[in-house]
Amino acid sequence: MPAHERLAEVRERIARAAKVARRDSADVTLIAISKTHPPAAIEPLIEAGQRVFGENRVQEAEAKWPALRAAHPDIELHLVGQLQSNKAEDAVRLFDAIHSVDRPSLVEALARAIVKTGRSPTLFVQVNIGDEPQKGGCAVADLPALLGVARAAGLSIAGLMCVPPADLEPAPYFALLAKLARDHSLALLSMGMSGDFETAVTLGATHVRVGSALFGSRA
Ligand SMILES: *Cc1c(COP(=O)(O)O)cnc(C)c1O
Repeated sequence: MPAHERLAEVRERIARAAKVARRDSADVTLIAISKTHPPAAIEPLIEAGQRVFGENRVQEAEAKWPALRAAHPDIELHLVGQLQSNKAEDAVRLFDAIHSVDRPSLVEALARAIVKTGRSPTLFVQVNIGDEPQKGGCAVADLPALLGVARAAGLSIAGLMCVPPADLEPAPYFALLAKLARDHSLALLSMGMSGDFETAVTLGATHVRVGSALFGSRA
């Protein structure tokens, strides 16, 4: 299926899910996750009108995006993968949003990078919503303290992000993330991937992160 058809189909599915939940689909941002895909695979989606993209590694994004953005200055780039503190400044320079704030040392590094660069990407705290030992994200129990550290560092957190446990029904985890965001008065919710973005939209996602449904499966 050509890229513009896959894009139209994903947008249509988002619109249907939003309608079921009596939401405005304009309140849901589709982030096309282009990790591992070369510029030649990304360009057709740009041609089809997609403007918001996501990558999971700083170095890969630095290699791919400066040229694409020079040609399309209105593109918005999101970081959805784990971030090392020593890459915080590179990330702040390159990305318009960072979805993986998950620990105090990274909060401090981002706060310094934001002052130094004068840039202010939209920030999401990633929550390890299933409390899985191998997974990134701040523990649910540590979220209030991490938000406190961010406040003290002068960092504005706009929302929460999660990746629910694989192979389990995602809805309860999306509902929990939505409740945590409400409890802390955070407006944005980054949740939902190719396999579950409609469920995420019905439960309040403002940002869905869709890779394989747009680009095909990754090698
Ligand atoms: C790869 C990735 C996605 C997209 O996954 P698909 O299943 O291909 O849609 C979304 N979020 C994160 C954090 C990812 O790493």
